[in-house]
Amino acid sequence: MNAARRGVVVQGGWIVILWLMHLALYTALAETIYTVKKGDTISGIAQRYGLSARTLADRNGLSRPQHIYPGQNLRIPGSIVSQTTTAPKSANLPTAVQTAINTAKVRSGRWRHIVIHHSAIDTGTVQGMDRYHREVRHMENGLAYHFVIGNGSGMRNGEIAVGHRWKQQLDGGHLATESLNHVAIGICLVGNFDKHPPSPSQMESLRILIRALMKRCSISATNVKTHQQINPVHTRCPGSKFPIKTFANFLSRATL
Ligand SMILES: [Zn+2]
Repeated sequence: MNAARRGVVVQGGWIVILWLMHLALYTALAETIYTVKKGDTISGIAQRYGLSARTLADRNGLSRPQHIYPGQNLRIPGSIVSQTTTAPKSANLPTAVQTAINTAKVRSGRWRHIVIHHSAIDTGTVQGMDRYHREVRHMENGLAYHFVIGNGSGMRNGEIAVGHRWKQQLDGGHLATESLNHVAIGICLVGNFDKHPPSPSQMESLRILIRALMKRCSISATNVKTHQQINPVHTRCPGSKFPIKTFANFLSRATL
């Protein structure tokens, strides 16, 4: 083997090594492991991750996919993008939020509507909004909403913050008339949804929060509205990219 030929072989070897490293790294990032729980089905798990049952069975070499057992580890193929944007797997509210909903002294018939807003700004915290509503909007009770859902900038993506207007059962300050503010629970999602839709985590948190509030306050799905749908004065809130159809679809299935 002459020197030139050896050079080609060595270079080729490096390319293979780099390619293998890339492949290993990509596979490590793109796959998650799911541990089967009692009552799980392969199609149920697949659906949760947006996969077909066939893809999931094939990835795990399951020749008889109906035979999975609790404790079994399954490889969930995915992508880096889908991992960072996947909604929380649990359909339950965080304990602290559920406790705040349960322990507030909600009078019977106190609330008639749940209204959804966007903050129209892509970064936000409860403290920042509270200060803005007190100092700029001169609202003595501060934060105009009862709940705020973060987008990963200022608050965690999908994080639900409980405002003091909920804890103390105070009227909201999020609608154009006092009579509406008197009967409407306000939920604000951080973000400008005229520019982009809310994150999947925000929507998942919104759905579980709404379900819990409907139940707690005996509010039917027809009384869950966007700001635009309920406000007597025209508003773009919660933005043209808020997924109104998917949301209406969710509400049509949400029962008390
Ligand atoms: Zn609004």
